[in-house]
Amino acid sequence: MKIRDRYAPSPTGPQHIGGVRTALFNYLFARSQGGTFILRLEDTDQNRSEDQYVQNLYETFSWLGFNWDEGPDRGGDFGPYIQSQRSELYQQYAAELLKRDGAYRCFCSSERIDQVRKEREASQSSQTGYDRLCRSIPPEEAEKRAAAGEAHTIRLKIPLGEKTVFNDHLIGQVEWKNEDINPDPVLLKSDGYPTYHLANVVDDHLMEVSHILRAQEWLPSVPLHVIMYRAFGWEHPEFCHLPLIMGLDGKKLSKRHGSTSIDEFRRQGILSEALINYVALVGASYEEGKDIYTLDELVQRFSLEKLSKSPGIFDYKKLEWYNGHYIRSKSDEDLAALSLPFAIEQGLFPSGAPDEAQKELYTRAMGLVKERAVYLTEIPEKLGYLFNEIPMAPKEEFIPKKGSLEMAIDALQKVRPLIDTLAQTKTDQEAEDLFKALSEKEGLKLGDLMMPLRLALTGSRVSPPLFGSIRLLGAATSLARIDRALEGLS
Ligand code: GLU
Repeated sequence: MKIRDRYAPSPTGPQHIGGVRTALFNYLFARSQGGTFILRLEDTDQNRSEDQYVQNLYETFSWLGFNWDEGPDRGGDFGPYIQSQRSELYQQYAAELLKRDGAYRCFCSSERIDQVRKEREASQSSQTGYDRLCRSIPPEEAEKRAAAGEAHTIRLKIPLGEKTVFNDHLIGQVEWKNEDINPDPVLLKSDGYPTYHLANVVDDHLMEVSHILRAQEWLPSVPLHVIMYRAFGWEHPEFCHLPLIMGLDGKKLSKRHGSTSIDEFRRQGILSEALINYVALVGASYEEGKDIYTLDELVQRFSLEKLSKSPGIFDYKKLEWYNGHYIRSKSDEDLAALSLPFAIEQGLFPSGAPDEAQKELYTRAMGLVKERAVYLTEIPEKLGYLFNEIPMAPKEEFIPKKGSLEMAIDALQKVRPLIDTLAQTKTDQEAEDLFKALSEKEGLKLGDLMMPLRLALTGSRVSPPLFGSIRLLGAATSLARIDRALEGLS
């Protein structure tokens, strides 16, 4: 069988974790089977679809770095891939379904439908949805009324007194009593636009989709889709409804748990590799004891059997762990390039954008922050002292535990002559040896020597590693900062 699957988002909001997980699993499944992955825009809800969300979709996936083979932006033999450009097809297929007695025309006004609903509510009836009034209009009469221009919709004629049975890869066999399906849902609206159900089924058939992998919340639509496929005389694709994504509290992942839109993750400085790696593991497991996967490794290992039935838990702490891992594994050059936009946005460079020398310094500084950073945004936050004048720390900060201000001044005076040599060391080990020798010679604790120096050079008791900072600041700046501190302290 030719494997073809698709991601079929409605552009009614920004891309979020759930959508990206669906797209990723479809991508991995298609790639792992040598198949084709399709993007189809389901923009039939004209009131809610917006162009900005289409742009957001393209930007998100170009950032994530995986792509479809066929789609609105790439073309393919089954286009157009945007549903609003396929209206005629849906009208044609709705007509076909009327001919096959799988659908009927409904002339009820929205006022009447509201009325039915209100009466039922008032009488506390257990029945919901359409009351199937127009189902009994003889087709010839309905044709005449339609030809005379009477407004109407086309509804699916759900066979009554039967069950609909289908198989889902993950859930197994699903049985649905037809009486429990939403009664005769609208397929074509009075304005000639299709509803999700009609457009989705027609397109999956025409685009020769072999597998539908999508979120579990779509499961209730499947019985009526299966009924439609049968009414058309078509085979339906195979279904695989993906496990829900939950927060740690077992509730469906939502804004209450944290960021869900991909834009937010990007703005926080999450790397695309970290997001892909982690999202690929939400609701699936590939290999015992292996956490880190490149996209290619995921492709090699993916199969529907690796998906789990139970909900996937989205743990923000784990995502942070992955992000830290991928930050550490970047070269200084790559990490600098990735975090530079955040640095500029945060105003790290006094003149706005960095010049060549500042860029070089920034790149060299990556080694100082790489080990501990969890988000890209933290990187420039820690490097202010390299590019800007630092405020003088309050005097009290300089005083060592159980010590005095004089001790801090003394320590600064003692390390001052060492700065030239320290700035020229190649490794932290070399610098540390020099410090140790000094502390032994002077009978001072290492910490009591280093803390005043750190404050003088970086303005803070917590900073990136001191020895590396001295190398990056250089002897001249370091000495000037020490002198300024000495002046301020005495
Ligand atoms: N347009 C639906 C959505 O927004 C697609 C559901 C499906 O994949 O069939 O998720």
